[in-house]
Amino acid sequence: MSSHYDVIVVGGGMVGAALAALLGRSRLRVAVIEGVAPRAWSPEQLPDLRVSSVNAISQRVFAACHAWEGMYSRRAAPFRRLKVWDNSEHDGTTFHAADVGAESFGWFVENPIIQLALWESLAELDTVTRYCPAKPARLEPDLHHVTLTLQDGRELSADLLVGADGARSSVRHMAGIAVDVHDYHQQALIINAVTELPQQDITWQRFTPTGPQAFLPLAGHHASLVWYHTPDKVRQLLALSDHELIVALQQEFPEELGGINAILGRASFAIRRLHAQRYRAHRIVLVGDAAHVIHPLAGQGLNIGIQDIALLARYLERGDDPGAAKLLSAYEAHRRPANQAMMSTMEAFHHLFTRSPAVLRQAGAKGLVMINTLSPLKRWVMRHAMGLTVINAD
Ligand SMILES: Cc1cc2nc3c(=O)[nH]c(=O)nc-3n(C[C@H](O)[C@H](O)[C@H](O)COP(=O)(O)OP(=O)(O)OC[C@H]3O[C@@H](n4cnc5c(N)ncnc54)[C@H](O)[C@@H]3O)c2cc1C
Repeated sequence: MSSHYDVIVVGGGMVGAALAALLGRSRLRVAVIEGVAPRAWSPEQLPDLRVSSVNAISQRVFAACHAWEGMYSRRAAPFRRLKVWDNSEHDGTTFHAADVGAESFGWFVENPIIQLALWESLAELDTVTRYCPAKPARLEPDLHHVTLTLQDGRELSADLLVGADGARSSVRHMAGIAVDVHDYHQQALIINAVTELPQQDITWQRFTPTGPQAFLPLAGHHASLVWYHTPDKVRQLLALSDHELIVALQQEFPEELGGINAILGRASFAIRRLHAQRYRAHRIVLVGDAAHVIHPLAGQGLNIGIQDIALLARYLERGDDPGAAKLLSAYEAHRRPANQAMMSTMEAFHHLFTRSPAVLRQAGAKGLVMINTLSPLKRWVMRHAMGLTVINAD
């Protein structure tokens, strides 16, 4: 027997769960298909290695999902200052949220906390049914709806099926949507550390020819350090003892880091860019990492995924046929160029600071410093970092 929904969301990660929460609150009937349920959380738990910067737009969307309180009350570290510089000799550029009248640029929140709070908000909704653990086996779109067969044999149907199942999206694959992929031949080493300095309200990033080094504040004396480097170097760093890694960090990271008392965990991620050539097929649409994966250097991957679903939810809440081609093509027409623009900006930063001759890097760094003195431009950069330059498409 088949159960029918307005919308099936495959992937109940941060982006898919947020979409389901928005749609469920608008009284649309939603099914969420997720392979792995979020784990319970306790305050004694050490910080997770997967951390995201949540900008002002995403925070508002999470609040509309009734999930922000569940994130903020657990662990969220606000950042009120943002500093960038390259390793030539200058002071870099510091942005202050207060300069645009904001209390903070955003918050660093652990990914499992974001997902858990969203799932708690889904549990309150009688309009949302969660299928977990469950995975899709087959998709069959026809003129009026799409039928999804799960791997356990259950059959569901909906007017629209959303692929929110991440970078390796099975929905994208089953819908026959091709992707453009670029491998940066770079890895991000993520290190969770206990810092000598107490909780900070600044996040900083120093660009070096081998890749950026970044500091993300976490609650208490904790920080997430991100060290972008070649795969060989990251492999070497991963093999070091905690003591050796602390020595390497103190030698290579800028003095802003201060002392490191302990390493709590480390992991590495290959850096690549991926863009789906189309965001839609008949009665199927892609959101979040299923549609686009960008270089994480500016911490915008989740934020642009949340912008995808905020727009899609606004279209779907209008009450027309959720799978109508006109609606899906309007979504694609707004979000694909916006995400492409973000990708190109990350690309420009990556090339400027890693591939360019020293003279150009210094020019880039001077450009960053100039931003400090050109207040309208600086304000634009700050508002962009907060997600406030997003144009509300109708
Ligand atoms: C090193 C690093 C640092 C980052 N830092 C930031 C940051 O600071 N800020 C930021 O905005 N972004 C950041 N990002 C990007 C961010 O993590 C991603 O953009 C975000 O996780 C995308 O969310 P998503 O829900 O689209 O996909 P995912 O997080 O991948 O979630 C997909 C969900 O679908 C489920 N799923 C997958 N396949 C199936 C299937 N077949 N059936 C059922 N369920 C399935 C998965 O279990 C998962 O729950 C970073 C990325 C990296 C690699």
